[in-house]
Order: sequence, then C-alpha cells, then structure tokens
Amino acid sequence: MKRPNNGVLVDRRDFCGLLFASTVASVLPLRIVAQGRTPPWRLPVASSRTIRADDTLIQIDFSEDGVDPPKNLLLQWIERAAQAVSVYYGQFPVLRERILVVLVPGRRGIGGGTTWGGVGGFPAFTRIHVGQQTTQQDLDGDWMMTHEMVHTAFPSQQDEHHWMEEGLATYAEPIARVQAGFLTPTKIWTDMVRDMPQGDPRSGDQGLDQTHTWGRTYWGGAQFCLLADINIRKATQNRKGLQDALRAIVYAGGTIDTQWPLTKALQIGDTATGTTVLTDLYNAMRDTPKTVDLTGLWKDLGIEGHEGGEVSFNDAAPFASIRKAITQAPEAAKSPGY
Ligand SMILES: [Zn+2]
Repeated sequence: MKRPNNGVLVDRRDFCGLLFASTVASVLPLRIVAQGRTPPWRLPVASSRTIRADDTLIQIDFSEDGVDPPKNLLLQWIERAAQAVSVYYGQFPVLRERILVVLVPGRRGIGGGTTWGGVGGFPAFTRIHVGQQTTQQDLDGDWMMTHEMVHTAFPSQQDEHHWMEEGLATYAEPIARVQAGFLTPTKIWTDMVRDMPQGDPRSGDQGLDQTHTWGRTYWGGAQFCLLADINIRKATQNRKGLQDALRAIVYAGGTIDTQWPLTKALQIGDTATGTTVLTDLYNAMRDTPKTVDLTGLWKDLGIEGHEGGEVSFNDAAPFASIRKAITQAPEAAKSPGY
C-alpha cells in the first residue's frame, strides 16, 4: 500500500496512517494510550542512540531491546530518510528531533507514524511503529519515515489546513528521495500518475479547507503542491520551484514547533519565488472544489504510457524541462538562495 488508505482521519494532527492494513488492533492500543493519560513522548524507552544529520542531533529511542530488526538496520533506515530531507531542504529542518521506534511483535512493515511539534523538550517528536518481522527490503522501500520528517519542515496548522501538512509531505517525500538518489524519477512519476486522482473533488466537495476526507487531505493537498510547483516554474522560466518556497519558509523559522497562519507561510514562499502562485492557488482551492486537469498536466510534462506499467518520458513535451527540474538534485546550499 503506497499511502495510508484506511478511509478514516484520526483526530491527531500528523497521524499518517497504518501500513499494517489488516492489523489495526496491534497499533490501536498505543493510539488510545496517546489520547489518554500518557502522552507518547512519555512512553517507556529501553535504549537510545543519537545520530547526526547536518547540524541536527536526532535522538532515536527504542521501545524494546534484544528484538529484531537489528538496531543498526533501523538506524540506517532513519539516516537515509534524514539524508533525503536534508537534500531537499538544504539542511535538516529542525535542530533536534526525537524519534520513538515502537517495535510491534508478530508484524512486518512500518506502521503508523505521527509527528508532533514542541513536545517533551524537542522541537519535533516522531513516534513510528515497526513490526519485529520487518526486513531490510521493507526498510529500503519505506516512505513513511521520510514523510514524517517532512512534517518537521512546515509550521503547525489549524485543522482546516491539515490538507497542506499532509499534501506537502505526500508530494515532497518521493521527490526528496529521488534527489537523494534513493528512487528513480520513473518510479515516482508512475506512482503519482496512479495515486494523484485520489485527490479529485467528489460530489459535495467544498474546497480543501472545508472537505476533510482522506483523499482530499493527502492527495488533494498533493495536487495543490504539484500544481503550485508547476505554476511557480512556469512563472519563473523554471528558475524557481515549490522547493525554493518551502526552503524559505523553514529559513524564516516556519517549522513544526511554530504555529503560523497558513497565509503567512504561503506569503513567505511567494516572496522567495517572486510570484503570487501559492496565495493565488490557495484562494482558488480553499473554498471551491477545483478539479486539477491531471491528464493535461502529465501530457504537458511529457509523462506517458502509464496503463498498468511504468510511465515513459517524452522530452519533446512543452514542459518536459519542468518535469526534469522537479526531481533534479539542488545545489547543497545551506540557505534558500534568494
Ligand atoms: Zn503525515
């Protein structure tokens, strides 16, 4: 399963779903604990390790010792995710992060991830579940750890703007992994062509701020980001993209441990690209069920032939250069460069 699709939005800001598709019960008790008297950042810890990503110290706590998968594999998994996010943002978004790895007996795969801002003495805290039967291959193919780390790179939002937090993480995560060399462009465009239509507005939709279904929250938000990226690049002759806007927001202090109005973040992003794309697009999609012409976008970007298989690229398409720029690794600048 590429993305959480349990059809239910949990009352938790960055609860990013369950990968144990048929094993909700194995995770559910912990969620109840999280909403009860014991917050997840106070759950018992058996052992800890600290790794460094750029200037950031990431404290990794394990719920249990002496169980699979081996700790060194889990550390490498987290390091790779941190590397992808560092490449995308030019540096790791927050100076300290704590990750609680909850090991789940009898399960395989990565389970629900949730990221909070400013709890337990850390600017960012992520709790994530890992089945004890999880393999190296599972860890190599995981998207959720990167997704959670992308959440650290945007100011916390009111519930009505939750689509922006999840849409951004959904859109930026695979791009970050391509830029870090962990995925191919063919893979992520194939996935986007397959998955993006899940964000289309359905009957009764009232725009992104008013329609809090799973599809609109994750993939409707991702459509917003995709369209913003393309529009920024069109408006700047492909010199700037959404990535520049997002870096500027982080550079201005807009990380998960802050609470900003969405309009403030979007304005900072617009200033960084010298456009009004983010603000304009938000105004067009916030209260209106705007349908994004995905078929037309794929054609313009030169993405073809996705019927059940991998896409292929047509470099003669009018915006093929935009498609290439989106996944091109940026220079390793430490500032947003504007
Ligand atoms: Zn998420």
